[in-house]
Amino acid sequence: MLGAACTQAASGASGRIDVVGAFYPLAWVAQEVGGPRVNVVDLTPPGVEAHDTNLSARQVADVENADVVLILGYLGFQPQVEQAARQASGRVVEVTRQITLRPSQERGLSADPHVWLDPALMENIVQVVARALVIADPGGTADYQARGDRVVRQLASLDQRYRAGLQGCRFSQFVTTHEAFGYLADQYGLQQIGIEGLTPEAEPSAQQLRTTEDAIRSGKAAPAVFYEETAEGERIGKTVAGAVGAPALPLGTLEFDPAPGNYMSVMQANLASLRKGLQCP
Ligand SMILES: [Zn+2]
Repeated sequence: MLGAACTQAASGASGRIDVVGAFYPLAWVAQEVGGPRVNVVDLTPPGVEAHDTNLSARQVADVENADVVLILGYLGFQPQVEQAARQASGRVVEVTRQITLRPSQERGLSADPHVWLDPALMENIVQVVARALVIADPGGTADYQARGDRVVRQLASLDQRYRAGLQGCRFSQFVTTHEAFGYLADQYGLQQIGIEGLTPEAEPSAQQLRTTEDAIRSGKAAPAVFYEETAEGERIGKTVAGAVGAPALPLGTLEFDPAPGNYMSVMQANLASLRKGLQCP
């Protein structure tokens, strides 16, 4: 076993551990925890929602040959990635394996995938990834543990800022284009009303638009429309916001690399957006 691990650790052309992350938050965790010992590939290109990740032949080979492959789980969230992971020769890690997932009513999706938007659940994911890297590269154990602990502390601090920042707000219900904030809402005592559902594909139905607009007009939901920063998300969010005369506020889903921002900066900006829209003290 030790021999196999050593061979595997040396397999990358760089001498580093080859890690594939199915989409940005997983690639971010791998890079933060792995530091200089890992070479990280993010399978989801900028501007593409993680639900829609299509793999090139080269990327399929990357998944098959990586030392460690990080996927959210076999949920039907990223079908091509999940299919390639079944053929992988390295260690495939389902990062949500210790997390109780919210149910999904959507066809082909076995659970709500959006765990990464909850800082407390991200702490668990960091620990799972750190353990996987230790197993793949035991020589780096102390590094992975130290770096993993540091990221967990940063996330715990972010969680505290959310907890404190979302206390005593005038509203607890909020309208969002992409229904990606269920875990975050559960964690901080909020409720989301989604315009487009868990998988933002089709144009929202007249019924969905009416439900969300009524929620704002009746004063049940905060007078704001939170939109995902994609062309579609912004268009739909601004249309609904215009219809009800409320501001449209960005709320990042982190489904692709937000460069020049990163996980932490987007989560901070999201907290500021939520505090504004929910009218927090
Ligand atoms: Zn999503």
